[in-house]
Amino acid sequence: MRILVTGGAGFIGSALVRHLIENTAHEVLNFDKLTYAGLLSTLDSVARSSRYRFVQGDVCDAASVRAALDDFRPDIVTHLAAESHVDRSIDEPGAFIQTNIVGTYTMLAEARRYWSTLGSTEQAAFRFHHISTDEVYGSLGDTGLFTESTPYDPRSPYSASKAGSDHLVQAWGHTYGLPVLVTNCSNNYGPYHYPEKLIPLMIAKALDGEALPVYGKGDQVRDWLYVDDHVRALQAVFERGEPGRRYNVGGHNEKQNIEVVRTLCATLDRLAPRADGIPYAEQITFVVDRPGHDRRYAIDASRIGRELGWKPRETFETGIEKTVRWYLEHEEWWRPLVAAKAAERRGVCEPEG
Ligand code: NAD
Repeated sequence: MRILVTGGAGFIGSALVRHLIENTAHEVLNFDKLTYAGLLSTLDSVARSSRYRFVQGDVCDAASVRAALDDFRPDIVTHLAAESHVDRSIDEPGAFIQTNIVGTYTMLAEARRYWSTLGSTEQAAFRFHHISTDEVYGSLGDTGLFTESTPYDPRSPYSASKAGSDHLVQAWGHTYGLPVLVTNCSNNYGPYHYPEKLIPLMIAKALDGEALPVYGKGDQVRDWLYVDDHVRALQAVFERGEPGRRYNVGGHNEKQNIEVVRTLCATLDRLAPRADGIPYAEQITFVVDRPGHDRRYAIDASRIGRELGWKPRETFETGIEKTVRWYLEHEEWWRPLVAAKAAERRGVCEPEG
């Protein structure tokens, strides 16, 4: 099949492109604007494949999207391009509204126009797959799980913009019959994760002997999924999922943020101990919490398991071990990003105490 991937130079998009080129016979067009989060270096291993193409373009620019669709003629569109960092959405919400909502509208409008030109067999086989987050469901108490019928209750500018884009996708399915799919996934981690997000940020700061800033008491709970498990879930959904259906994707790995940081410290103590022998956990400090920080996210991913046979391969322990090893072996990838001050803390409405 021909698969158009938007945001294919980002963290999850690049993992999807590498997986499709390395493990399937599909052809891939990567359509990406290359914002600060889009790095073609994530695709060095597949860039020379005859089944891979790249177009630099903005999902908000209808003419570029139209040209890419008409030229590549995809069977599947997987839409990952987005502004994705919650802290940035607190400082600069406008870019999130533009890319996540207006960009998704533009993708839908152009996909519908392209789809309407296809023959009936191709129309029936076409899929528009929108990649979203569990954050649209809001925050949980100590118990319970997000299911596919949990009402939306987004709390941050990021999750509100993703919720808006999810609604547009469902509307294009209901109103125009476009064969749409939506997946809502929990927190991902793994190689090529931009060092502004919790796990790579903590690894980088630990290795540089800096304080490890944990928000509030570190008791917020997130459900962690290794990125390659997410990518296999995406493939299962766009190849075999039922149009119009939503699938939750999660790792059954609920961890408090402080547990995540302590696990990273313990893994680094084993794999790259400090010269002075002091445990990395001594570097942990607690800082003022993120405004409106959701307390707990946890995903019920039984539908995708039951209907499409997907389950994660990595446990939290095996995934963290792989991730820490990758960051230790690829300092040349993340050090320039850290040096460019990309890893500075954002989303703070008041001075840190
Ligand atoms: P990322 O920030 O690493 O990558 C985003 C990519 O989109 C970048 O390559 C960037 O250049 C590109 N992009 C941004 N604006 C664009 C525009 N206007 N036009 C074209 N390209 C543009 O994000 P990620 O972590 O890989 O997330 C990918 C998708 O998965 C997002 O839609 C996100 O909401 C969703 N998601 C992420 C997670 C997670 O834990 N990272 C979890 C669930 C869902």
